[in-house]
Parts: sequence; C-alpha cells; structure tokens
Amino acid sequence: MSLLKIVYYPAEVLTTRAEDVAHVDGTIARFMDDMAETMYHSHGVGLAAPLVNFSRRILTMDVDPESNTDSLLRIANPEIVEKHGEIVWEEGCLSFPGITAEVVRSAEVLVKGIDREGEEISFEASGLGAVCLQHEIDHLDGINFVDHLRGLKRRLVMREYAKALKELQVLADRPSV
Ligand SMILES: [Zn+2]
Repeated sequence: MSLLKIVYYPAEVLTTRAEDVAHVDGTIARFMDDMAETMYHSHGVGLAAPLVNFSRRILTMDVDPESNTDSLLRIANPEIVEKHGEIVWEEGCLSFPGITAEVVRSAEVLVKGIDREGEEISFEASGLGAVCLQHEIDHLDGINFVDHLRGLKRRLVMREYAKALKELQVLADRPSV
C-alpha cells in the first residue's frame, strides 16, 4: 500500500464531476486500499478519490477507527437513495486545511454502491456517518462543503481559508534544517 498526495482547493479536480467506476478490478481495489491508508494517515474519517487527484466515483470512510470491528467502508459509485431529517455538523475537509464550518445535512441516509469485491451493497448511516457520506459524495459531484455556505458566512470562511493556505505555503517554502 502507499500514501497518496492530497490536493488542496482550488485544484480543478475538486470542482469537476468524477466519472463512474466501470469495473471494480484489482487496480481499483488496490487504489481503495491506498485511499484508506491515506485517510487514516491524515486522521480523516472519510476520503473521496478527487481529493487524491483521481476523478472517479470512489470513497472510503471509517467513522470509528478505534473500534475492534472492521468499520472501514470502501465503495465505488455510491448513491444516496433515501434521506431523512436534518443535522448541523461542524465540518472540516482534508482539501481545505485550517478551516471548519457548520453545514446542514440530512440526519439519516440510505446509500447503495459497489464494494471492494465488486458486490452491490446498500447500508444506512446516521449522525457522523451520514454527514461524512454526504460530504464525500458531494466531492464526487465537484461540490465542496463551503458551497453549502451563503453570503457573508461563506466570504468569511473563504477569507480564513486563503489565510490558512498562505501560512501553509510559507511553511512549505521554508527550507528544512
Ligand atoms: Zn472534503
């Protein structure tokens, strides 16, 4: 397995609709494993393929990484088939380092897709799981969490992000000793 590089907004891949996976073959399965490793390494609970610069409809998620049971999801072509209720969550994003913002989402979702073995699956999620699935599936449609913010709120968050990105740039440019 290997770590993949996470791209930062405004990388073009983050505002592009990702293509369906035609076939979950060995290459895609290994890519799912690399995504999972990258997600754990970055302390993320979810990761969508566009964040690692691959414009395909794939996501990984683990909202309970400390648990003894295998709670890792690797899914291609995920689709929300039902949603209920409303929940507000303070969201962050690996492609938007340094900022968080409250987003309104559905509280429960029913999702279907294809697992790592190429089998069709469907499952329900609520709370963080539901929030994460909606956040990652948005990525597959080229939608970012800040796109759910409006007006002044959005402007403030984007200004904060520009600042955070600049600071990261300064750190990256600094020669290491
Ligand atoms: Zn994200």
